[in-house]
Amino acid sequence: ATADSGAPTIFDKIINKEIPSSIVYEDEKVLAFRDINPQAPVHVLVIPKVRDGLTELAKVTKLPYLYAEARHGEILGQLLYAARIVAEKEGILDGFRVVINSGPSACQSVYHLHLHVLGGRQMNWPPG
Ligand code: 5GP
Repeated sequence: ATADSGAPTIFDKIINKEIPSSIVYEDEKVLAFRDINPQAPVHVLVIPKVRDGLTELAKVTKLPYLYAEARHGEILGQLLYAARIVAEKEGILDGFRVVINSGPSACQSVYHLHLHVLGGRQMNWPPG
């Protein structure tokens, strides 16, 4: 995987419905769909429809860490709210995990910001 230089990813094709996905929740700003390679009985990805510089190549560090500015506060809140809606819909409110993998050492593979919502089994800590 490469750092986000603003190039489209597979998630843009999912947003545009050019490739199919199993959608769990959708609104104007946010799309939630099932991970193609689930790591738990429930594994849903929650993404912003517009990348808007999120996970952009961080200008100072030159590393592809999670990138956000104050102006991203609203969409970040909407993503977390959507994660909560997904957990409720999927019946995992009793115990679930929300994860952002940021950068190669965290095994990020798609450079379009996404929240993993995981549940339906005992989620151990530390995750490894
Ligand atoms: P990352 O490792 O970047 O945090 O997570 C990317 C996730 O996207 C992985 O869990 C991977 O299984 C999932 N993924 C990659 N390509 C596709 C796809 O085409 N469709 C769906 N539904 N999930 C995908």
